[in-house]
Amino acid sequence: MPRYEFRCRTCGDTFELSRPMAQSSDPATCPAGHDDTVKLLSAVAVGGAAASAPSGGGGGCCGGGCCG
Ligand SMILES: [Zn+2]
Repeated sequence: MPRYEFRCRTCGDTFELSRPMAQSSDPATCPAGHDDTVKLLSAVAVGGAAASAPSGGGGGCCGGGCCG
């Protein structure tokens, strides 16, 4: 069963719920009892926007000779 992450807009807490995908958009109640929650994009969403951070060579400025 997939896990969905929610954030409570009342207390700012984040929490996870395991629920069927058919109920993924159902309202969730935070552990403190608030129902003003929003569903976050969590690790359930695989694929799509992959973090493509370029891994530099570590040279930076001093690798190009601009430091002096
Ligand atoms: Zn709350």
